[in-house]
Amino acid sequence: MKKSVHVIGSGFSSIAAACYLAKAGYKTVVLEKNETIGGRARQFKKDGFLFDMGPTWYWMPDVFEKFFADFGKKPSDYYELEKLSPAYQVYFNTLDSITIPGSLKEIYEIFEQEEKGSSIHLKSFLKLAKYNYDVSINDLVYKPGVSPLELVTPATIGKITQFFSTIRKQVRKKIKSKKLIQILEFPVLFLGAKPSNTPAFYNFMNYADFGLGTWHPKGGMFEVIEGMISLAHSLNVQFKTSAEVEEIYVNSFGEAQGLVVNGNFVSSDIILSGADYHHTETLLPKKYKQYSEKYWEKRVFAPSSLLFYVGFDKKLENVCHHTLFFDTDFDVHAKTIYDAPSWPKEPLFYASFPSINDGSFAPTNKEVGTFLIPLAPGIEDTVEIREHYFNIIIERFEKLTNQSVKDHIVFKESFCVNDFVKDYNSYKGNAYGLANILTQTAFLRPKIKSKKVKNLFFTGQLTVPGPGVPPSLISGKIASDLILKHHKNETII
Ligand SMILES: Cc1cc2nc3c(=O)[nH]c(=O)nc-3n(C[C@H](O)[C@H](O)[C@H](O)COP(=O)(O)OP(=O)(O)OC[C@H]3O[C@@H](n4cnc5c(N)ncnc54)[C@H](O)[C@@H]3O)c2cc1C
Repeated sequence: MKKSVHVIGSGFSSIAAACYLAKAGYKTVVLEKNETIGGRARQFKKDGFLFDMGPTWYWMPDVFEKFFADFGKKPSDYYELEKLSPAYQVYFNTLDSITIPGSLKEIYEIFEQEEKGSSIHLKSFLKLAKYNYDVSINDLVYKPGVSPLELVTPATIGKITQFFSTIRKQVRKKIKSKKLIQILEFPVLFLGAKPSNTPAFYNFMNYADFGLGTWHPKGGMFEVIEGMISLAHSLNVQFKTSAEVEEIYVNSFGEAQGLVVNGNFVSSDIILSGADYHHTETLLPKKYKQYSEKYWEKRVFAPSSLLFYVGFDKKLENVCHHTLFFDTDFDVHAKTIYDAPSWPKEPLFYASFPSINDGSFAPTNKEVGTFLIPLAPGIEDTVEIREHYFNIIIERFEKLTNQSVKDHIVFKESFCVNDFVKDYNSYKGNAYGLANILTQTAFLRPKIKSKKVKNLFFTGQLTVPGPGVPPSLISGKIASDLILKHHKNETII
């Protein structure tokens, strides 16, 4: 009989790991508490409008290629990718925005127009960023976070100062334009922390942005999930939805023997959890938890979010597929996320209008819009607060883009802190997991292999390498590699 692995959750990391484990010969079953697969990357449909509920930016296409290549496949076997040009637009004031084109040559021109000489600095900055990207994405991020020595390679030794400086310092050394600084500091927000708290080494995100570009899978990010499900099915992975894991049963030898799913015991040789780490530990008897409540309290979490999924009965003007509204002070907003958790007075926000490029997202002559305000995890979330913030951003949106939209809303749905907790068992309703600050990088992140339960493993955005879809794919690979390593001597008949 084949050995069995039960994977808790069906986010990117879980599906990726399930594919690797099934390929290696394990009987692999994915258990998802929700009715649909995809975790935070679920899809929502209403009245002919389509929404990616979570991720919308497809960055680092090479990571997706590597994942599918491990199974002799290509992304194009499952979905169609388009490089966006323009990549995105950033608003600073009414009808005052910078649009980032799809090619480096055009980006240098835009920088030069904004600040004379800045393209020269950008070139040398991106050279460094590309080097760091090659070192990290081809090597470092695939390390399991077991030992600090993983970070010591000939390529990193000369870069040690970049771990102790910050993106903010690095960007501001040469570039003076406030707008260009905001654009260069934006990519590290994907890592869940402030640029002033993110090691300069992470400038590889700038290479991901300008060097590799912003892509769009036709039909949206959920097409990637669908592609991975199709790959997983071909490898005989079983998916069970509406299957909530309520308990992980550990015997007196410190071995997990199985799980309680919807009230029923299911035995399993190995358990891998892609659900939020803190939640998974609540499924264990107390003595098998590795991290205390105090430990989690002290971690710097990536933001939660207030999201609005909106259908408009007309096409919108003066916006791109991805549009950022940076017309208020980021530092003031960031304080409310990281330093004194509270609702921001003047929030920055992001909006996505995929129907601009992709007709499958909205009926003809209509527009779909997702609006996102990053927030501190754990703050109060009520219907009234959500409504208040919708009015704030929609009025700002109308003013900044010089158009009326309020009277053209067909419907709107919201998703916030309480929904992250309810739908994903997310700690304090975090959206993107644990921030990648220096003290939460690599071997300093929660461990993939449990130190207390022999056959229990973890994957996903709270483990290595960190938040985001590409890191989640990598995390799935790392977790499955560790399972294979620790169980390689066991016979699979
Ligand atoms: C609003 C938003 C926008 C984002 N934007 C981007 C972006 O543009 N680009 C990008 O790269 N990344 C983005 N991210 C981050 C990215 O989506 C995540 O890092 C990634 O999807 C996390 O995947 P995961 O595998 O860690 O787990 P998750 O997707 O969190 O999946 C965990 C799953 O476990 C399930 N689960 C929990 N408890 C149980 C239980 N007891 N039993 C069974 N199942 C359980 C949950 O229901 C969930 O389905 C965004 C995230 C959010 C929320």
